[in-house]
Amino acid sequence: MKRILTGDRPTGKLHLGHYVGSLKQRAELQDQFDTLILIADVQALTTHFLNPQLINSSIYEVTMDNLSIGLDPEKVTFVQQSQVPSIAELTIFYSMLVTCNQLSHNPTIKTEAKNYGYTEMTYGFLGYPVSQTADITFCNANLVPVGEDQLPHIELSRKIVRKFNDLYGTEIIEPDAKVSNVGRLCGLDGNSKMGKSLGNAIYLCDPPEVVTQKVRNAVTDTNRISVKIPGNPDVCNVFTYHKIFNTEEAPNICSMCKNASLGCVACKKLLADKLNSILSPMREKRSYYENHKDVVKELIQEGTRRANQIGNENLALIKDKMHVSL
Ligand code: SF4
Repeated sequence: MKRILTGDRPTGKLHLGHYVGSLKQRAELQDQFDTLILIADVQALTTHFLNPQLINSSIYEVTMDNLSIGLDPEKVTFVQQSQVPSIAELTIFYSMLVTCNQLSHNPTIKTEAKNYGYTEMTYGFLGYPVSQTADITFCNANLVPVGEDQLPHIELSRKIVRKFNDLYGTEIIEPDAKVSNVGRLCGLDGNSKMGKSLGNAIYLCDPPEVVTQKVRNAVTDTNRISVKIPGNPDVCNVFTYHKIFNTEEAPNICSMCKNASLGCVACKKLLADKLNSILSPMREKRSYYENHKDVVKELIQEGTRRANQIGNENLALIKDKMHVSL
């Protein structure tokens, strides 16, 4: 079975943007691939090193979110990044092959540094694509599901692996990217991506009334100031959500909006009901794990044990080829 490495930064609960961009695909692929879910707590430290308590509590939240969307603990392996020393060792080896220029010119790094307001980057932040390469390759993953913005990182990973294999005769697998075909989900404000820090997100664990309230406040076609005026679904963020989450009703909603036979309040109610029907089974699953945190802990520990076994075996071979073993 080929292997997938995917995962999340534990910096808070996961939202619909994560679900559309990555989680849904994970659940669909879990039967075809050996799926490792990395809880990337070290990577989270690159931006949240002042707030490690948040990272610690989010390890559970993120794992429960993954379980709630239907990942089967019998099939997938949860891995806590900080507890896998082979990843840290590989990061150091790879860092010898990457220039500072390569990293500072990486478009994703530049955008993220801007988003975080960094005028100067720490060594850890600048180097996180190198650490990400180690995340992917410590277990020889074949495939990495990513958003479009992560493609430069995967390209860099492939370059590092090629160079490493050429230099040392290792047989590390060059990972392929699997881009989500749904793309990025805008936040409820319609202006930017859905983000934890932007206050425009619907969380997978939000209660029904919170979801309904958030959808009620969502931005629509701003030119539609009265229910009697026809709307333009093409510029309406609420309609984008209908297209993604309410595919059956979307064509009908589109024509009713255009001929002004559906008002925005009613349209949002339809969306909120649909979202709540999707989220309801997830809330149910999550509530089981919320009441059984010991089960969640055991899943992470057991998965991490397996990851260490795989990583240690691979690293021993790599070190041997590099002549850094006795
Ligand atoms: S009716 Fe629906 S699709 Fe049309 S503008 Fe209002 S919220 Fe958007």
